[in-house]
This record gives sequence, C-alpha cells and structure tokens, in this order.
Amino acid sequence: MRTRVLPISEASIDEACKVLLAGDLVAFPTETVYGLGGLGLNPDSVSKIFATKDRPTTDPLILHVSSADLAALAEDEIIAKPIPALAVALVSQFWPGPLTLTLPKGPRVPFGVTAGLPTVAIRYPAHPAAQLLLQKLGQPIAAPSANRFGRISPTDASAVLQELEGKIPLILDGGPCTQGIESTVLSLSGSNPTILRSGAITAEMISSITERQTLRDARNLQQSAPSPSPGMLQSHYAPQTPLYLAPTPIEHFDPPYQYIFYENRNSKLPPGAYLLAPDQNPSTAAQNLYRLLRQADSIGSPAILIDPIPESNWAPAIRDRLQRASSGTALWQNGDWKLLPRAGA
Ligand code: AMP
Ligand code: MG
Repeated sequence: MRTRVLPISEASIDEACKVLLAGDLVAFPTETVYGLGGLGLNPDSVSKIFATKDRPTTDPLILHVSSADLAALAEDEIIAKPIPALAVALVSQFWPGPLTLTLPKGPRVPFGVTAGLPTVAIRYPAHPAAQLLLQKLGQPIAAPSANRFGRISPTDASAVLQELEGKIPLILDGGPCTQGIESTVLSLSGSNPTILRSGAITAEMISSITERQTLRDARNLQQSAPSPSPGMLQSHYAPQTPLYLAPTPIEHFDPPYQYIFYENRNSKLPPGAYLLAPDQNPSTAAQNLYRLLRQADSIGSPAILIDPIPESNWAPAIRDRLQRASSGTALWQNGDWKLLPRAGA
C-alpha cells in the first residue's frame, strides 16, 4: 500500500473522512502526539488499528470526540447512571486539551475499543486539524499513538512514516506536535479519581477541581491491586537502542554512546549535541523528547544515555516515559560508564 502524506487543508481533511468512512485508517496530528485513527464505533476499523500497530487487544484505545458531550459515549449500561458531576467539571476546565477521562461505557461503544473493559477512555483534542477532522466526520475516532506497539510515539509526520509507511493509506501532516507527550489519563470509574498516566494536565491541576475527593495515582497502587489501566506497561515508548538514565548531570560524553543533555550547561558539549530544553523550558523538553530519542536511536550506537530531568510541572510525565523506555541506569565510575540493567526491563 502506498502511504500518502498530505498537508492539512479542507481537501485533505475531506479525503481523510473518505478513507475513514471506507473503513481504513488515517494518521493525524493532535497536540500531544500523532494518532492512528479509525472509526471508533466500528468494530472492524477498531480491529484494523490493533492489527496495524501490532497492539495487544488487551490494551484499550482512547475515543476522540469533537465536543464535551460525554453522555453520547459514557453511561453505565446496566443502571444508566448519569455522568458524574466531577467529569463535567473537569471537562469544562480542561477540554479541549490533553486530558483523557475513563468512565463507564455507553452501549454504543464496542468492547473492542475498551479491550473488554466496562469503561471507555474519552478525549477532546485541542489541535485544530484534529477538531476539524472530528467535526467533519461527525463521529468518534479511536486513535492510539501512530507507532508500532511498544515503540516511541511519533511527534511529526516523518516519524509516522518511519513507523507505518506501507501500512496505512494516509497521513495528515500538521507539523510537529506542540506538547509532544501523551495525554494525562484519569479514571473516574472507581471510588476515587485516579491518575492512570501522567501528562500535561498535572495532579495539582486536577486536584484543584476534585476538591474533597482525594486524587490517587495508579503508580502508587500497583502492588496491592490489579492494574487499573491494562495498557500501562513497565516497558514502553522504547527506542531500539538501549536507553540508560543518568542520575546526575552527564559530564563525560565520549563515543561510542549517544548522549541526550537537558540543557547546555557545559560549553564543551560536542557540536550538534542533543539538547532537550535549549531554552531551559520544561515544556520544550517534553516537545523534544520523542524526536531526540528517535534521532539518537537512528545512529546505531550501543546505548543512549540521558541527563536527569529537573523538577517542574512536566517532570512526572517525562520521567514516567523515560522510566518505561529505559533499560537501566548509567553511572560514571572509575573513569568509565557502568550501565546497570533495571529490574523488569
Ligand atoms: P495510547 O492511545 O497508545 O496512548 O494508549 C491509551 C492508554 O489509555 C492505554 O494504553 C491505557 O493505558 C489507557 N486506557 C484506555 N482506555 C482505558 C480504560 N477503559 N481504562 C483504563 N485505561 C485505559
Ligand atoms: Mg501509545
């Protein structure tokens, strides 16, 4: 199959709708990462998404919508419970934007999308091209990140092409994603709101809305309970070159390794060194993270070493992705790098 890459226009969005309505898949930009979209309420399109990505069918998909109308998709099928007031409050504060909510699913949502779960994940993206596509299509789009399973999420059209060329008919090219890291996923189906995946909408921002309902983080529950979010694997988002996290800023950077620095604090850095936040802005680090991992991965060096991520609003999300992408820790000892494997990597 030939994969076409079209810039965003009325015509290319119409074309994308045509492809989707024919049951095929389209990669499209969102503010977080590029999505691999298919008709979200159509079980065949949904199956195609899993097959194209090689994604296990136990890993549920997010439904993308073009309005804050949760009731169209989320409603307890058995007792027809109304949408919780907290969901409405969160949506009015953070949608459109990088916050995904999981709620009891409505009867229209196929179990293929939710990996058999009684809950559905829903997001209203802020990217204008994604919004236009959703509006013109007039129905939800199921869209995981447009990469093969376990690999680095794509943050521009060339990265999508690298991942899925020949497997999908169309990529809408909206330039680089402005956020660069997947949405925050918040579960509202249990007794307490629970962050399943960290992202740009931080725990502090969510807590300002949840007020008396204590916000939990699934990473702190994992030992005691079955995973509340089946897709959140310990190993994920990984380059093919093993990635090692340096616990202190990298001061030694000779070949054969590739080094990703947080900022340019050392004038001796090699020309063309990878810098996550050349402007020292944490949101720039998030935006650059996957692109630089991809670049460093393409060199064919034996390992990539990355600087520690300093504290900021973005730090939990970036550190979470790096943990899951990493093979272990890099320590400078006795004039050499020691690369220590991580348990479970
Ligand atoms: P992706 O779209 O590839 O960024 O992945 C979406 C992630 O959202 C999944 O891997 C799950 O971790 C999470 N997710 C989606 N639907 C649900 C759900 N119904 N319950 C819990 N987590 C979900
Ligand atoms: Mg993904």
